[in-house]
Amino acid sequence: MNALEEAQKIYDQLVAWRRDLHQHPEMGMEEYRTAKFAAGMLRELGYAVQEGVAQTGVIGVLENGPGPVIMSRVDMDALPIQEMNDVPYASTVPGMMHACGHDAHVAIGLGIAMLMVQHRESWNGTLKLIFQPGEEGMNGAEKMVAAGALEAPRPDAALAIHVWNALPVGKVGVTPGPVMAAAESWEVTITGKGGHAAQPHKTVDPLTIAALTVTNLQSVVSRNVDPQGAAVVSIGRLRSGDTFNVIPETAEMQGTIRTYDPNVRETVLCRVQDIIEGTARMMGARSDFTLYPLAPAVINDPKITALVHAVAADLLGADAIKTDERTMGSEDAAFFLNEVPGCYIFVGSGPKDRPAPSHHSPIFDIEEEVLPIGVALVVESLCRLMPRGEK
Ligand SMILES: [Zn+2]
Ligand SMILES: [Zn+2]
Repeated sequence: MNALEEAQKIYDQLVAWRRDLHQHPEMGMEEYRTAKFAAGMLRELGYAVQEGVAQTGVIGVLENGPGPVIMSRVDMDALPIQEMNDVPYASTVPGMMHACGHDAHVAIGLGIAMLMVQHRESWNGTLKLIFQPGEEGMNGAEKMVAAGALEAPRPDAALAIHVWNALPVGKVGVTPGPVMAAAESWEVTITGKGGHAAQPHKTVDPLTIAALTVTNLQSVVSRNVDPQGAAVVSIGRLRSGDTFNVIPETAEMQGTIRTYDPNVRETVLCRVQDIIEGTARMMGARSDFTLYPLAPAVINDPKITALVHAVAADLLGADAIKTDERTMGSEDAAFFLNEVPGCYIFVGSGPKDRPAPSHHSPIFDIEEEVLPIGVALVVESLCRLMPRGEK
C-alpha cells in the first residue's frame, strides 16, 4: 500500500469531517458532539468502542491478529475565542473556535481508523485509537490515563500528531528527544500594609515589591540556568491597587515556568520560589506562593522517532523533514508519552507563500492538504510498528 496515495483518495471525506467539526467547536471536557461523532464512525468501521473515558474521551480498539499493541492519540477540544475568519465553514458557536487545529486532528484520527481497516492485510497486531478531551489546560490526557486508557490492552508504543502552522504544508518536524516543555504555573499574593499614598513611610507597599519581584525574576534564566539549557520564566498577570492616592494592601501575580530538562526544572522552580519569597521578606511583606504542575515535557523516543523519520522520508522526501522542531509550549500528550515510548510529530499546515496565522489566534486556519499527509504518516508508521508476519 502507498499510504499517501490511499490517504489522498479520502481527501474529500477528510475535508468534510474537518469542516463539520470546525463549525461545531466544543470546550474542553465538554466535547459531547465531537465524541459521539468519533465513536459512531469508529463503531461503523468495526472498532470496539469505549465512550465516556474521563467524561468525553473515546477509545477505539481494532484487533488484527497477534502482534504488538500500538496507540495513536488525537485531541478534540476547541478554545474560547471568537473566530474572525470569513469562510463558509467558520464556527457557528459564538465565542468558541477550533483555533489550534484539533478539528483537523479528529478528522485525521478518523482517516487513520478508516485506512487501517481497509488495509488490514498490511499489518498485524492491535491498534488502539485514543480521542482525548481537554488538551487546552484541562489535563484531559492525565484524566484519561487515570481512567485506565493505557490498560487492557497496554500499548507498546504511541504516536501523536499536531498540525503545525510554523511549518508550511508538506514539511514535518520529527525531532528525537524533548520537543515540548514541562510546564508549571504559579501564583503569589504579596501582602503588605496599605495606607495613604502621601505617607508611604507608614505602609509596606506591595506594589513596589511586586515590581521588584518581576525584575528579580529576570535573573533566573540569565544567571542560574546553564546557557546550553532551555528555560522560560514569564509573568502573565500582575494586579494591585485601585486608585492614585492609596497604597494597596496586596499585589497578586501569576506566571509560568517552562523547561525540558528535569535538573534545569528543579533549579528554576527553587530559584523562582526563593526570589519571590525572599524579595517580599526583604521588604517586610508576606508572600503566599503556590505552584501548579501542568504537564511534563514531551520526550520523543529515539528508536520510534527514527522509524517515523524513515516513513516521512519515504512519503515526503528527506528535504521535507526538520529534525530540530521544538517549542517551549506544553502538551498533555506527555502523560501518554511518559508511560509509553513514542513520537510526537509536527505536521506542517501553514501556507507555502505567505505568513501563517498563529495557533490560538482568531484568524487561525490550516491548509487542508495537511489532512491526508497526517493520515499517511501515522498509517505508514503504524504499519511498520505492527509489521505483517511478526509475532
Ligand atoms: Zn493549543
Ligand atoms: Zn493544540
